[in-house]
Amino acid sequence: MLEERSAGSVIYRESSKGKMYLLLNYPSGHWDFVKGNIEEGETFKQTVLREIREETGITDITFVEGFEDKVEYHYQRDGQVIHKEVVFFLSNTKTDEVILSYEHRDYTWLSFDDALAKLTYKTAQKLFKKIKDL
Ligand code: ATP
Repeated sequence: MLEERSAGSVIYRESSKGKMYLLLNYPSGHWDFVKGNIEEGETFKQTVLREIREETGITDITFVEGFEDKVEYHYQRDGQVIHKEVVFFLSNTKTDEVILSYEHRDYTWLSFDDALAKLTYKTAQKLFKKIKDL
């Protein structure tokens, strides 16, 4: 089976309404956190910083120490089953303006409950719920 590895981050910013979380709309239609494939020689956190910059234009990222978790799934591409693992961190930013790349259709900043409802996949929701318990 083909194996794929990505790294990503739940990103939040403080607003007058409390913490707002960033979700992206992927080309296949799902809503998920910022993530991307790990390039050779990168640490997970280097991947995350690069992907955040490329996919959102955000550069002022601070990692919240102590949170690291993983989402796993299978999907099919060109008739091949791919097993994918995505390592996730938690980080915050003071930037609200997002500059999307060609890789996504849309973005949104949502409260915890709205973001939980918007996330397409149960596995991502499960990871996100652990953040509320922090
Ligand atoms: P990356 O952001 O890591 O470069 P990508 O844009 O290539 O990823 P994914 O978001 O991993 O692609 O989506 C690839 C396929 O897996 C899509 O068909 C998507 O619907 C599906 N998928 C994405 N996340 C999950 C998940 N948590 N559970 C199950 N299937 C998922």
